[in-house]
Amino acid sequence: MKFNHIKKDDQVIVISGNDKGKKGKVLTVDHENGRVIVEGVNIATKHRKPRRQGEQGGIIKQEAALNMSNVMHICKKCGKPTRIGYTVLKDGSKVRVCKKCNENFDD
Ligand SMILES: [Zn+2]
Repeated sequence: MKFNHIKKDDQVIVISGNDKGKKGKVLTVDHENGRVIVEGVNIATKHRKPRRQGEQGGIIKQEAALNMSNVMHICKKCGKPTRIGYTVLKDGSKVRVCKKCNENFDD
């Protein structure tokens, strides 16, 4: 699987699965397992039992991890779902660029 260069706080769109078409901000990235958690996407409902006396049990909704291959970046410059490339600037620093418009992705 191709590594997707996803970082925390990136804006992404879901490209397959139940939440296809949903957009959100990346909350956590699990590079080891190739998974990401995206704000408001892939919400799983969990039933929680009260652990202590007086604590409220109930249903909590929480984002579940998605496979990185199911999301794509959204470029802030051109607003399109895109792949990310890398380029090296004159000062030697490496930056991410949008493959659609070639703008600096992190700028
Ligand atoms: Zn772009």
